[in-house]
Amino acid sequence: MLRVAVVGSGPSGCYTAQSLVQQDPEVRVDVLDRLPCPYGLVRYGVAPDHEKIKSLQNNLRSVLEHERVRFLGGVAVGPGGVPAARLRELYHAVVYCVGAATDRHLGIPGEDLPGSWSATEFVSWYSAHPDAADDGFVQGVRSAVVIGVGNVAVDVTRMLARGVTELAPTDMPQAALTSLAKSRVTDIHMVGRRGPSQARFTTKELRELGTLPGTAVLVDRREAGTDPAFLDPSGLPNAQRRNVEVLRGWADAPPAPEARRRIRLRFYLRPVELLERNGRVGAVRFERTAPDGDGGGGVRGTGRFEEIEAQLVLRSVGYRGVPLEGLPFDATTGTVPHRAGRVLRGEAAASGEYVSGWIKRGPTGVIGTNRPCAKETVASLLADAAELEQREVPSDPLPHLRAEGVEPVGWAGWCAIERAEADLGASLGRSVVKLPDWESLLAAARTAGA
Ligand code: NAP
Repeated sequence: MLRVAVVGSGPSGCYTAQSLVQQDPEVRVDVLDRLPCPYGLVRYGVAPDHEKIKSLQNNLRSVLEHERVRFLGGVAVGPGGVPAARLRELYHAVVYCVGAATDRHLGIPGEDLPGSWSATEFVSWYSAHPDAADDGFVQGVRSAVVIGVGNVAVDVTRMLARGVTELAPTDMPQAALTSLAKSRVTDIHMVGRRGPSQARFTTKELRELGTLPGTAVLVDRREAGTDPAFLDPSGLPNAQRRNVEVLRGWADAPPAPEARRRIRLRFYLRPVELLERNGRVGAVRFERTAPDGDGGGGVRGTGRFEEIEAQLVLRSVGYRGVPLEGLPFDATTGTVPHRAGRVLRGEAAASGEYVSGWIKRGPTGVIGTNRPCAKETVASLLADAAELEQREVPSDPLPHLRAEGVEPVGWAGWCAIERAEADLGASLGRSVVKLPDWESLLAAARTAGA
């Protein structure tokens, strides 16, 4: 009987486990996660007001509740946890589905000033990630700059613009809700270094910005019109054409002086420095760019500069994978080299080591993209199964994991966390409210064994 460890319980980990049990009638799968809670970016990345996407948790849940799948939370693999080499001894195969755990950097002066954060840090805070920084984020902020024009940039822009009445019904932690309820942010500038037709957001997400109560979305027709495709979008592929049409609609909209907040979508501005005022970020200096004329969407600098006031800067320029102990790593792409999901050591496939999800293909695509990605990896793994099963492994790896000094949070522990979050919500007069720190998560999980 094949025993597989899946490291990571986000969408790619869950789809890998699902594919395994669907295709092999005997395989047993342990899904390990560093956190005591499952679901990865669905729990800690999808914005709290995106309830429909969040409800995907129900699908992932049915995978983790499968009789031949076991969730083992609170198990770190690598330094400080279970060594990767030990994990290999305990299972026939290990599939790493660890995502892209860090954010890309801009590499410009002032990036580390107080008030400058990666969008990931802000997302972690309002998503109650137990490792999140405990900062008010919006305290004393009137004007915020979001650098980048992808879907994460849209998420954080929207969260900055939402009012407390819209946020209170979500599962956002109480401290973040209280802080955002007091927000005095009036202007949010979401800034792209290229043109409207090169923006990475998707139209559904973009359009949602125009539905926020009391918020005007502003696009400067002259600036956006630097992009020839903004003036005539007819030749663009569908996805970009729809984006440009939405942006054109906003550029043509009459002024909305009654709006309490403004989202300004800016283009052709490349960040060059974050400027300090009174010991923290006070503005972002940009160089204006223009199309380079090569027709490939590239830009060149113009030598003209502009400053935008900002007491909060969120850098939303993409995620990046981090190297895993004992595994090869391509520092250029931030991924583990692989062939159809088999980890490659040089030209040769490493026996029993696989990858799936963002650590395999880089941080792109929607949640559903992880399904075919997992299927490909599982097909490779099952093709190798006869050889992998030659090696003896323990019938139950759990006592051996415990011998490594970890005390996994099992499914009952996670269910106890869910109950504690429902109870917390009820005590606050809200629906489910997430527990935001390690202590309360582990205390809740322990009640399962009591
Ligand atoms: P992304 O889509 O790759 O967007 C990154 C943005 O950062 C781009 O606009 C990029 O511009 C810009 N950028 C990169 N380096 C820069 C620099 N040095 N200076 C200025 N701008 C820079 O990444 P993401 O927004 O983090 O999203 C990651 C993935 O998650 C995407 O596939 C996304 O669709 C998905 N996601 C989906 C949802 C949803 O469906 N609701 C929500 C969140 C995330 P250039 O194009 O010029 O490089």
